[in-house]
Amino acid sequence: MKLFNSLSLKKEEFAPLNEGRVRMYTCGPTPYNFVHIGNLRTFVFEDVLRRYLKYKGFKVTQVKNFTDVDDKTIRDSQKAKISLKEFTQKYIDEFFKDCDSLNIEKVEVYPKATEHIPEMVALIDYLLKKGVAYKSQDGVYFSIDKFKDYGRLAHIDLAGLKAGASGRILKDEYEKENVADFALWKFWDKADGDVKWPAQFGEGRPGWHVECSAMSAKHLTKMFERGFHPDKFETIDIHTGGIDLLFPHHQDEVAQTEGCVEKPFSKYWLHAEHLLVDNKKMSKSLGNFYTLRDILAKGYAPLAVRYLLLSSHYRQKMNFTFESLDAATVAVQRFNDFVLKLKEAHGSEEKKEVASAIERAKAAFESSLDDDLEMSSALASLFEFMNEINKLGIHQLSKKDAKLVDKFMKEIDSVLGILSVEEELSADVAKLIAERENARKIKNFARADELRDELKKHGIAVEDTAHGQRWKRIFS
Ligand code: AMP
Ligand code: ZN
Repeated sequence: MKLFNSLSLKKEEFAPLNEGRVRMYTCGPTPYNFVHIGNLRTFVFEDVLRRYLKYKGFKVTQVKNFTDVDDKTIRDSQKAKISLKEFTQKYIDEFFKDCDSLNIEKVEVYPKATEHIPEMVALIDYLLKKGVAYKSQDGVYFSIDKFKDYGRLAHIDLAGLKAGASGRILKDEYEKENVADFALWKFWDKADGDVKWPAQFGEGRPGWHVECSAMSAKHLTKMFERGFHPDKFETIDIHTGGIDLLFPHHQDEVAQTEGCVEKPFSKYWLHAEHLLVDNKKMSKSLGNFYTLRDILAKGYAPLAVRYLLLSSHYRQKMNFTFESLDAATVAVQRFNDFVLKLKEAHGSEEKKEVASAIERAKAAFESSLDDDLEMSSALASLFEFMNEINKLGIHQLSKKDAKLVDKFMKEIDSVLGILSVEEELSADVAKLIAERENARKIKNFARADELRDELKKHGIAVEDTAHGQRWKRIFS
């Protein structure tokens, strides 16, 4: 399996540091608002990566953090006149709901920055004592001159850039042109209100970047096991995020961690490209964003949104349009209808073409995803497969062949996550379906039509076949 490593700018063969085990850190959301579908594109990519690693037999330990203290969360909790904790918790809860509806798997650990302040303080103190960081009037800064590899991950030629006006930058977010010593710790300022923690170098709060360095080391290595032991740090396998995190966030994470432990932070760095609207990055600050709830309120199905977000290569920009979401809706319906129809197979003969079609489709699916998660060709091979099976005639498949096809579809869905789980029908809907079956039997077609309309309102379509009434969920 090959993955594109932002560090080397090459596709590299993936080999985790411990055989069979993958340690992965994913920068999670800053909970100061609902996430938008741009953020969700990155989270869906990270979910597909995780699922495919598991499909390949790796045991994955993934950490996804919450940046629940930073410039933005403090600013907006004050605007909302509620405590930082209460404010961020609301959006953390909403984030989990969005992930559930997009079928994003739960990861192993969800640390919150505010629950890891002692670890951050220990790390900063160590950097200070080592002389890689220094105290200034408004905070503790990382001295980028003291870290020879500064700029290597983000591929910045420091010589060609002017340093930030003061040579120091306090804000969490800044552009490459303003590369400068960055804040590890910000001394308390009245604008921070009651957000502050004690530290031997002065009361204050952490900078954004140091949060991820501490949480990653804590949950994926033994660095903070019973004390603070930089020598127990172990390089992790994969660190992920959206491309906008490459600089300054990931570059600064590398500087802090490697400046402390003198070992590589992560073997592979993977970044997802942006979701655009009208060819501009979808972002909260530009105000050109859709949340998942905006989209669902228009009647789209969550699985169609998931399909759209995963359907193109993660390193390509994707322009969001409702036309593409309509096309994704059709695609998801096709996958789901195909699997549903397999239940109706009642042929008597086994066909050798079925097993060979599965074998070919599986090989094509895997070789595409092994090539840096080349999703469009993986999906194309699945459509080709469904066409082949449809040509053989699903009804004419033997029950055994249909089971093989069903098993294969469930296998690929362990990666894609686009087949709707067969939830129990609610009692009301089950009653309507039974009532309609009855109306048909007694040839009360007017009532059967009424019930069809009623069921449609519940997202259920009914079709009359030679073998009786069949129902399915509709995605549009
Ligand atoms: P944030 O909550 O701003 O820290 O962002 C959470 C994740 O979403 C990060 O991995 C970002 O890089 C990613 N992200 C932000 N905007 C977009 C976008 N328009 N398209 C894809 N990913 C994005
Ligand atoms: Zn991070």
